[in-house]
Amino acid sequence: MTSPLIAALEGIPRVELGAFPTPLQRLANWEAFLNYRGIYIKRDDLGGLGPGGNKLRSLEYLLGEAVRQKRDTVIASGPGQSNLCTLTAASCARLGLGCVLVHNCVRPASYGGNLLLNRLLGAESHFIGDVSVEERRAYENKLRDDPARWENPPYIIRNGGSSGLGALGYAAAVLEIYRQCAAGGPEPGTIFAPGGNGGVAAGLIYGNALLGRPFRLVIISVEDPRASLREHILAILAEAEKLTGTPFPGNLDDACEINDDYRGEGWARNTPESEAAVQDFPKREGIFIEHIYTGKVVAGMEDYIRRGKTEGPLCYLHTGGFASLFSQFDPAKPPPAAGSSF
Ligand SMILES: *Cc1c(COP(=O)(O)O)cnc(C)c1O
Repeated sequence: MTSPLIAALEGIPRVELGAFPTPLQRLANWEAFLNYRGIYIKRDDLGGLGPGGNKLRSLEYLLGEAVRQKRDTVIASGPGQSNLCTLTAASCARLGLGCVLVHNCVRPASYGGNLLLNRLLGAESHFIGDVSVEERRAYENKLRDDPARWENPPYIIRNGGSSGLGALGYAAAVLEIYRQCAAGGPEPGTIFAPGGNGGVAAGLIYGNALLGRPFRLVIISVEDPRASLREHILAILAEAEKLTGTPFPGNLDDACEINDDYRGEGWARNTPESEAAVQDFPKREGIFIEHIYTGKVVAGMEDYIRRGKTEGPLCYLHTGGFASLFSQFDPAKPPPAAGSSF
């Protein structure tokens, strides 16, 4: 019998961008450090294109739609260090599409992190100043509708790629993880994942529900209070249902746990714990995390383990963000050096 999840995704256009399945690895040093057996990491930071990250799975569906509509240029938008923007630029390079990036920040004095990569990837970047999301949206529409620029208007990716269509990438990812568990991996346990705009979360929740809920899902908000993240997730789920024609079975509050205890003062505002995680985790495992998304999820997962709020195998979903790490430190003031005292 075909799973309802496979049936729901069938026929939705998709382009191949990532190197999937990404590895599911055991974090032996972290297990020893926290005295907990069975901590795994799903390496979506190793996406296989550009700097990797969760947006690649969304882009497989979003750009699948752009290609179906025969668009030859794509517009994406976000802050200067947006991971979506860089992964859109990398994906457009792969697919032979033009890429225009609209950044709601002033033109930077220096091009570090993702801004450097965007240049290397050949994207056209617009810096429209410190404007609201509505003003950015109006700018994108004006750009798209400029008849002097194109006959074939560009495809616009909205809301950081966190839409019903983009979320299908993470519905499919649940099946990928489930198959890795079945093929000699751990028993399906708890997955810890970030909630920003809610696309990753909605996709995981939808896919897990259609698969009969093999996993417990803990969504760590990195930005919004629980109630507003929950609203975003519900809106994305409704879009996904409409696209696939397959209703989300059950209700959201049984399907996952949404926790806003680790978000600090919101997006890109570190907490002492996330700060410590960013410095500690690479020293133990050789894997980088960053301040905006992944550091908060690692700090949250660590707290769950220490408080005994979880049992059985755990899986940390690493959503990437490697390149933005380079913009999160002042190179003149690096983090403390280890050990010796030269
Ligand atoms: C965008 C992003 C997220 C959050 O994804 P949402 O779908 O907006 O919740 C998490 N981690 C990284 C590294 C991201 O770039």
